[in-house]
Amino acid sequence: MFGKILIANRGEIALRIQRACREMGIRTVVVYSEADREAKYVKLADESVCIGPAQSAKSYLSMPAIISAAEVTDAEAIHPGYGFLSENADFAERVEQSGFTFIGPTAECIRLMGDKVSAKQAMIAAGVPCVPGSEGSLPEDPKEIVKIARQVGYPVIIKAAGGGGGRGMRVVHTEAALLNAVTMTRSEAGAAFGNPMVYMEKFLENPRHVEIQVLADTFRNAVWLGERDCSMQRRHQKIIEEAPAPGIPRRIIDRIGDRCAEACRKIGYRGAGTFEFLYENNEFYFIEMNTRVQVEHPVTEMITGIDIVQEQIRVAAGEKLRFRQRDIVLKGHAVECRINAEDPYKFTPSPGKILTWHAPGGPGIRVDSHAYAGYYVPQHYDSMVGKVIAYGADRNQAIARMRIALSEMVVEGILTNIPLHRELMADARFIEGGTSIHYLENKLADRNLGNTEK
Ligand code: ADP
Repeated sequence: MFGKILIANRGEIALRIQRACREMGIRTVVVYSEADREAKYVKLADESVCIGPAQSAKSYLSMPAIISAAEVTDAEAIHPGYGFLSENADFAERVEQSGFTFIGPTAECIRLMGDKVSAKQAMIAAGVPCVPGSEGSLPEDPKEIVKIARQVGYPVIIKAAGGGGGRGMRVVHTEAALLNAVTMTRSEAGAAFGNPMVYMEKFLENPRHVEIQVLADTFRNAVWLGERDCSMQRRHQKIIEEAPAPGIPRRIIDRIGDRCAEACRKIGYRGAGTFEFLYENNEFYFIEMNTRVQVEHPVTEMITGIDIVQEQIRVAAGEKLRFRQRDIVLKGHAVECRINAEDPYKFTPSPGKILTWHAPGGPGIRVDSHAYAGYYVPQHYDSMVGKVIAYGADRNQAIARMRIALSEMVVEGILTNIPLHRELMADARFIEGGTSIHYLENKLADRNLGNTEK
């Protein structure tokens, strides 16, 4: 096992990884930007290294700065967390070339799955069902594009092969709007992701977002740890996640889970990963794979009792997976609310100093957060300041506990989306379960209409 790990990330996930390491007796190095200098988790680490100014490009995205920090501290491995460099194949390669272990899959696998077009092709080859659409990326010829769209059938969605974070997508309802949408998405994709390739998918009107968590070792052993429903989204960004996904027949999920584990064996996947699907009319359609730990991993940890971050570290150190598929038992239900520093109605970011931070507690409540009273939420990064996770024997109990937790939680000094979460935990359709990815946007649109009429 590693003696020392460098954590190449910030915020709640930096603290989460640090906790996993400490439990395993591994020393930690935390890197930080000047904007995160005062963060408590930086002080909790065994060692810390400032890697640059607040701008991510010069700190958390700077490969040389991070690798030099690993060199000066004699770390053996680097955990990338999520976001930043976690899905950057060049980074994984440079980490390994510099003599450190990258805690994640091989650069080759990251590259394959990081391009959504090649990922879909690999999944089709592995027998995983995908959203119907163009075969590969769209050609240059406008006539061909029109033809493909007619075959797929409107509405269609144009997506960037290199896209991520809910960006680089455009829905097209009519042929008249098609070519312009393709041109716009291409030029945006070129600028934002350095890859102008786009592809086309059928735009599913009422799907749910359901994803499968996998875990694989270097010996081609792979298991899947159940599913998560992440349909509660705004602008393609998840805000509530739960496990298991309510109301989906077990046999349908078991079949897709087994296919995902099999796909891992086929592509030689290593570490933790997530296969993301849209689910509609009892069918699963693959959209993309995330080759890293995800924000919502705790809901799976709660219902499986498996520490996903520790398992990532174990397989990166060359250990064999400690479980077979039959050892994975799902028990109870878990719900996660992402707490963002933002206006709960207008969604504008709300950075600044937290004056009061009262975290909830009690049976089944887990809070993963680096925030505290006096903590300054920097304006430079993602607005998420923590996650509240509620576990219960069943879904009703998990939601009831979440409701109590949110009612106890007090954050002052900045605005947060806690009022929105409170509203959603009392929402009749959410309580029923199984809402689609458009539910929240529609609800918010209705609410805004109501406001203007007043
Ligand atoms: P990203 O990598 O940016 O997260 P994804 O491909 O995972 O992009 O898609 C993000 C979200 O966009 C999905 O969860 C879903 O809400 C929506 N989406 C993507 N593809 C489709 C589609 N074919 N039909 C309907 N919605 C889609």
